[in-house]
Amino acid sequence: MSTRKNKTDAYIAVMLALLMLCFSAASQAANVTNARVWPAPDHTRLVFEITKGVEHKLFSMSKPDRIVIDMSNAKLLTDLSELSLKGSPIKRIRSAVRNSHDLRVVLDVARQVEPKSFLLKPNQQYGNRLVIDLHERETKKKAPKVVKSIDDQHQRRDIVVVIDAGHGGEDPGALGPGRVREKDVVLAISRELKALIDNKTGMQAQMTRNGDYYVGLRQRTGLARKHNADLFVSVHADAFNKPQASGASVYALSKRGATSEAARWLAKKENSADLIGGVGGVSLDDKDDVLAGVLLDLSMTASLNASLGVGSHVLKAMGGMTKLHKKRVEQAGFVVLKSPDIPSILVETGFISNPAEASRLKTRKYQKKMAKAIYRGLDTHFRTTPPPGTLLSYQQYNRNAKSPKKYKIQRGDTLSGIAKRNQVTVSQLRKENSLRSDQVKIGQVIRIPAS
Ligand SMILES: [Zn+2]
Repeated sequence: MSTRKNKTDAYIAVMLALLMLCFSAASQAANVTNARVWPAPDHTRLVFEITKGVEHKLFSMSKPDRIVIDMSNAKLLTDLSELSLKGSPIKRIRSAVRNSHDLRVVLDVARQVEPKSFLLKPNQQYGNRLVIDLHERETKKKAPKVVKSIDDQHQRRDIVVVIDAGHGGEDPGALGPGRVREKDVVLAISRELKALIDNKTGMQAQMTRNGDYYVGLRQRTGLARKHNADLFVSVHADAFNKPQASGASVYALSKRGATSEAARWLAKKENSADLIGGVGGVSLDDKDDVLAGVLLDLSMTASLNASLGVGSHVLKAMGGMTKLHKKRVEQAGFVVLKSPDIPSILVETGFISNPAEASRLKTRKYQKKMAKAIYRGLDTHFRTTPPPGTLLSYQQYNRNAKSPKKYKIQRGDTLSGIAKRNQVTVSQLRKENSLRSDQVKIGQVIRIPAS
């Protein structure tokens, strides 16, 4: 074996190795095939569709403000200049090839933002994704507390309903025939519902999202808390693997998992939105760990009873305008229903996987009708059991005070006994009924003033 032969062999081996390295590098490069921008009030989400997971670095630079994303071994196969940046802090997106096979993307931003990034695994609609969230800097602006109450003297507060349009942004929710998307249908219904509630004296509504962007599930319950909600209503549309399934349903939180196989299936699907939207503790600082821990305490039981109550009113109202999937309020372990002290319901407005229902759900007319039914249910609930301290509870009290109860005297009744039972005084009873003495006769009807 000559040294020359050895050298040649070594040379070939090195060349081969280099060639294989180049080849494998080329075959392993992640391609950026598409990009989307989802502007939300508190952050903007930029999503890169990539053919596989990619190593990346993310950092900010100032003067001028910009965000730099360096992807190792990645190729840009889409035109980023085509993206609409409206409503986002991004002014311009630039890109360049670095070190011959790396990709640098630069976002020129209008103001300083807090960037965060994470990878999302494929779901039923999209493949691998690299997500860049640009969080707006905290501005300590106070939410204006609207009091529409007519009783300024007592400052009776409004009942606050937080409406949660399910899904949004990168998470389309259920997809129906004719390109009907759950996230669009439920946002439209939620907006109609908000308008109805805001139009009612003594009630006001807040939305967890008011655009096409994703809000984390824990963040949605967090918003209910922030707004001191008396009720949280999550609006969804169902999907099932059989197109025949149809009808509306209402859910409250279950005590132990789901009450039926279908409900369990649904619960799992709805909860997986966290994976779809990429919250799951990866991207967002979860401020609701406390909530997560507290599930079934006493206050939860109380709010669960209220949830079942309001849910049955909503179900009944919906039953007047559409088929019901289930005749009673179902219970499942949806994350958005897990506020321990805020009555919470999830309304499935119909099956988007059912062609007939999907075509109804996408019309403005039906969306309005659906919103009206939900509103009627809430209204009935709050008229019968208004939360204390609200204008509605004040009005209910006054109504009762103005219309005294009537009572028919039974054998053995005395005026003092009746007074005691109704927490009024004998003189109040005499005055109300213009009685000259304490004597009453069996069968006599007297009025009992409110205590
Ligand atoms: Zn949904």
